Amino acid sequence: MTHIVESTHLTPTDSQTHNQRASFHDQEHVHIIIVGSGFSGLGMAIQLKQHGYQDFLVLERAADVGGTWRENTYPGCACDIPSHLYSFSFVPNPDWSHLYSPQPEILAYLRRCAERFGILEHIRFNCEMHQAMWQQNERHWHLMTTQGPLTADILIVGQGPLTEPAFPHLPGLEGFEGMLFHSARWNHNYDLTGKRVAVIGTGASALQFVPQIQPQVEQLMLFQRTPPWVLPRGNHKIAAWQRKLFRLMPFTQRFVRSILYWNHELAVVGFAYQPGVLKLASWRSQRHLQRLVADPLLRAKLTPHYTLGCKRVLVSDDFYPALTQPNVEVVTAPLREVRARSLLTEDGREYDTDVLICGTGFQVTNARFPHLVYGSDGRSLAEKWQMGINAYRGTTVSGFPNLFLLLGPNTGLGHNSIVFMLESQITYILDCLRTMKRREVQAIEVRAQSQEAFNQMIQQHMQNTVWTSGCASWYLDANGRNTTLWPDFTFSFWWQMRHFDAQHYHLLRRKKPLHEQTVVLPTSNTSSRKHIHRFNE
Ligand code: NAP
Repeated sequence: MTHIVESTHLTPTDSQTHNQRASFHDQEHVHIIIVGSGFSGLGMAIQLKQHGYQDFLVLERAADVGGTWRENTYPGCACDIPSHLYSFSFVPNPDWSHLYSPQPEILAYLRRCAERFGILEHIRFNCEMHQAMWQQNERHWHLMTTQGPLTADILIVGQGPLTEPAFPHLPGLEGFEGMLFHSARWNHNYDLTGKRVAVIGTGASALQFVPQIQPQVEQLMLFQRTPPWVLPRGNHKIAAWQRKLFRLMPFTQRFVRSILYWNHELAVVGFAYQPGVLKLASWRSQRHLQRLVADPLLRAKLTPHYTLGCKRVLVSDDFYPALTQPNVEVVTAPLREVRARSLLTEDGREYDTDVLICGTGFQVTNARFPHLVYGSDGRSLAEKWQMGINAYRGTTVSGFPNLFLLLGPNTGLGHNSIVFMLESQITYILDCLRTMKRREVQAIEVRAQSQEAFNQMIQQHMQNTVWTSGCASWYLDANGRNTTLWPDFTFSFWWQMRHFDAQHYHLLRRKKPLHEQTVVLPTSNTSSRKHIHRFNE
């Protein structure tokens, strides 16, 4: 039998351990639920724990932590932002082996973080969220998961934007009879040795795996739609003495991290303020191409025709050399269809192949999770976002109380470490939780006008940047609006996120139990207040 109870009694305090969760309508209730255990979810969980929160649960659909660094295992997979910067500031790793460390090392780092901060006991593995609905009466989230229902006061979505692989919309793709897989779901059981391999895409992923598989395969056909801008990578091993120094004197690693940070941050000057500065980077990239590719025909194919920075700028030292090898052909004619054992291009040529690898990126602006989250008016986030994806400071959405998005709309970066943005959001959420506790607030909801004003400001700022200079990229939605990138210096985001700005929110106070409620009695003296003690029936 369901019974209505004042929610005050049921909201667990931060000190409650997750073993002592209250039962809410016979369902398991947790104060905070985080969805995902990649960089975002783990970072949030670690900081919650560091700040004394115990009553939180992390839902992870897989059997391991790591998010995109667990899913992407293709050969050569590594970060393209230096490791000292692409890691938590609160968990420095003095042992990074390379400037750009490989995927297994990044995954091992995330696993260590989860273990070291006692996060594993908070993670429910193999548990996927199917639906989350805000219950306005009860002021909490009701979740359906593969392991049963849950309720939570706060829902934090840490599902990164690069989660769901995107396959190309090509006629006949389903009918391909050879081996077909996406770079983010690499088939390690299939041996590419001596095979004819077709690769679609020349993005960050393809740039990393093409040089790795090229020596192994008999023939590699690279289907390129848009040539990327590629800068020298300069990856190198971090010397043993340096690692020792970082371990013994952690401030030296912090120093390196800040140099790397400011170095990357400078790119915004060209991307958003002074396009002339990009000429230098374009020149470096062209020189890189000239130095590594002697054949003028191939060089012409690989020369980009859009402004550097409009799409993600890539870094590689081995991509161009791999393309000059005799077993490689760069195909620039657009693809028309996929046949049982071949690919057909618009110029009528047919390319026989045994394997088709799609390095075609991710579903960013049409991700799945907005379809799963329902706000106070019963509409899903996807419905709400039909007219355009946006959030307040990339984190909260009007109509969705107590919901926080990690790496939400317009928090992506084309120039610096996304972990910096993530940490800024975590600071903001922690301050919001503190404010809620201090002011006895049960639910917060960003004001629609504040969200709108914020997004107008973002889109206005975006207008004169390189990201809206005319190229097609995954940064843009179907209407050509850039809903993924932060269009400014990252320290300006950090500055905005230092404190929770309650004035932009509706704050719903925690209901008091009936017997403690204060009622103003109509008396001759209007200033007199009396406490009425009622008793629950
Ligand atoms: P991506 O950058 O979206 O690249 C997809 C590629 O597939 C593009 O070259 C695209 O061409 C091509 N493509 C898509 N559909 C096609 C079609 N129908 N026909 C022909 N070509 C098609 O994807 P990604 O390389 O996986 O990288 C995605 C993001 O992941 C990156 O931007 C980066 O943020 C992240 N990433 C990071 C790292 C890292 O080291 N940290 C490594 C890998 C990925 P167009 O350019 O013409 O659209």
